[in-house]
Amino acid sequence: MVGYLYIVATPIGNLGDITRRAINILEQVDLIAAEDTRHSKILLDYLGIDNKIIAYHEHNEEKVTPQLIEKLINKESIALISDAGTPLINDPGYRLVVAAHENNIDVIPIPGASAVIAGLSASGLPCSKFIFEGYLPAKAVSRRKYLKTLILESRTLIFYESPHRILDSINDICSIFGSSRYVTIARELTKKHEQIIRDTLLSIKSKIETGAIRIRGEFVVILEGNHDDLILDSEILRINKILAEKVSHKDAVLLTAKITGKKKNEIYRLAHKNDSIE
Ligand code: SAM
Repeated sequence: MVGYLYIVATPIGNLGDITRRAINILEQVDLIAAEDTRHSKILLDYLGIDNKIIAYHEHNEEKVTPQLIEKLINKESIALISDAGTPLINDPGYRLVVAAHENNIDVIPIPGASAVIAGLSASGLPCSKFIFEGYLPAKAVSRRKYLKTLILESRTLIFYESPHRILDSINDICSIFGSSRYVTIARELTKKHEQIIRDTLLSIKSKIETGAIRIRGEFVVILEGNHDDLILDSEILRINKILAEKVSHKDAVLLTAKITGKKKNEIYRLAHKNDSIE
């Protein structure tokens, strides 16, 4: 017999989202391993739980994992929590869970909030097949390069994003995936200033620029996957350019609209934007 390792989800904002089962486990385990003990103390105090707590984060996991495994082997039970949401989902814990499995220790999930699922469920985009990409690369060149590898992905794509990179990322996503693709911004989920806005990439970009979507708090970006009738801006421009070599600009736009199903003013806007870049 060994102890159990519980992976306990905690709220992503609204403290009311803790589950009854999570409270029971946090009360009953021998030890709580938390990403940030001070942060988790706020939740534990709110729940009236006064249990032993130690720090388990990316900077000490190599050292602490064997110590926790030893306790589990000695039949102590441990609950792993992160600052918010489900541990391991872009949070520490992977090394511990692997080590637990390798030592035949039962790993028991206590499900609850996670921003990826909360955002997706309210996104108004297909939810039956999706791909979670976590954070995009921070550097612009790597981010664009990475995004290009996802152009043909047909599943709904989900990204986590920070407030100081949201506009740059949306700009890149817009120029790579085409301005007419749908995207949902899920900001400050479960919190006072929660905002869930679904629109085309172009409109979302302008809503961020004008402040209709505030660059504050935490973001989940949910992007429509590729489907056959989604035509890229670059493809629209290519068609328009070929036609403009043979017919007047006005007729080229008219024909491009017929071929692609896009609105004429959208094609004018794209062509104009492209001219000003060239
Ligand atoms: N483990 C967490 C989970 O299950 O969602 C995710 C942790 S990750 C370090 C933090 C990121 O999750 C944030 O930068 C943001 O992209 C997203 N996130 C967390 N809470 C959120 C919320 N209330 N609203 C929107 N996004 C949130």
